[in-house]
Amino acid sequence: MIWNPNKECMSREQMRELQGKRLQKLVQYVYHNVPFYRNKMQAMNVSPEDIVTIDDIVKLPFTTKQDLRDNYPYGLQAAPASEIVRVHASSGTTGNPTIVGYTRKDLAVWSEVMTRCLTAYGVTREDTFSVSYGYGLFTGGLGAHYGVENLGATVIPASTGNTEKHIHLIKDLNITGIACTPSYALYLAETLEKLGIDKKDIGLRVGAFGAEPWTEDMRKEIESRLGLKGYNIYGLSEIMGPGVSYECQEQNGSHINEDHFYPEIIDPETLEQLPDGQQGELVFTTLTKEGMPLLRYRTKDLCTLMTGECPCGRTSVRMSRIVGRSDDMLIIRGINVFPSQVESVILEMQEFEPQYMLIVDRVNNLDTLQVQVEVRRDFFSDDIGSMLAMKKKLSDRLKSILSIAADVRLMEPGSIERSQGKGKHVIDKRILK
Ligand code: ADP
Ligand code: ZN
Repeated sequence: MIWNPNKECMSREQMRELQGKRLQKLVQYVYHNVPFYRNKMQAMNVSPEDIVTIDDIVKLPFTTKQDLRDNYPYGLQAAPASEIVRVHASSGTTGNPTIVGYTRKDLAVWSEVMTRCLTAYGVTREDTFSVSYGYGLFTGGLGAHYGVENLGATVIPASTGNTEKHIHLIKDLNITGIACTPSYALYLAETLEKLGIDKKDIGLRVGAFGAEPWTEDMRKEIESRLGLKGYNIYGLSEIMGPGVSYECQEQNGSHINEDHFYPEIIDPETLEQLPDGQQGELVFTTLTKEGMPLLRYRTKDLCTLMTGECPCGRTSVRMSRIVGRSDDMLIIRGINVFPSQVESVILEMQEFEPQYMLIVDRVNNLDTLQVQVEVRRDFFSDDIGSMLAMKKKLSDRLKSILSIAADVRLMEPGSIERSQGKGKHVIDKRILK
């Protein structure tokens, strides 16, 4: 089933024309409402009249997460405060979080694109669907929630945690679909097995998995252990939240809702646009957003774009799975973690050398983070009490900065391997093929 064939199956010419018109309008809008963009465009000698077709997008400035942080909290907002009806924030980055305001129309677009995704997965009004992304400032929970309601299926706002109770609900309410991170899906499978419940005793048949990178191997594992079919869903809070792109029944790349989010692939070094099919950094322009529209937002996610017809009938561009990042961001239990955050905490405490290593792993399907740090010689002692206190101080501080718990290991001075070139601070043992 296709929710909105008018948009999802548009001819390429019509789509490009629509994108061009929307881009023109968008550029006028941000030029007159966001000083940040007006200044950038003036510095580049570009005026809104220079933007006529979608190809003119290359004349426009890029936007980065740093720009959002520098203009914290509402500097890039285009709509007046009275028009903003909801605010979300992106998790765990250094310094200020990223704040995103939505107008009523933005929320309607978000529900629409989420409904397109769910329909592509085969979800219908007959389904009972559990949203097990976190509810709150994170976009996952509420984003998926309103998509399910808009479709007309029954939403169970289970959120995360309380997994045993959740499994009972899945059984008792005959829940047929679930949206969660692939890690949580595996954890759910494991808990199911622990409780001795057979997958045949539950009615789950479809899963919308995203918010973190995952692999085909993980898909197979989740599918066989939960007895459902798993689909990829991609999104990011700066652009909207979940629902930017979605897999169809073909599962050969994710269709981008490109009437709302215009994709480009660029070379992260030269910032030049790359031809279709080449791997590079994914960039999005929000063609219809009112609250915080963004021009050429650099996602730092690496992937390729695929054009050409898809047997499902949709004509939209597809993106491959995310194969990596052009920055060093890690996603641990769904939370964005930058090694630089750990570094800043270590540097602010005089007990430690600036020598540290993050070891990320997946144990029993849950991501783990170990932080090894060298203690300065003057602070290193065999007094267990003082060492434990030092460890606790660092753990607490890391928890408050990262929003996730890290297992701190205090190391002897000089014990962490020094690197000759670029410092290596991360060992990610989660195998992502
Ligand atoms: P947070 O609130 O945790 O910061 P964001 O919306 O900012 O959440 O996270 C968006 C990022 O999550 C994307 O840029 C991408 O790196 C990752 N992501 C989201 N969905 C997927 C997916 N399906 N596959 C791979 N990575 C994903
Ligand atoms: Zn398709």
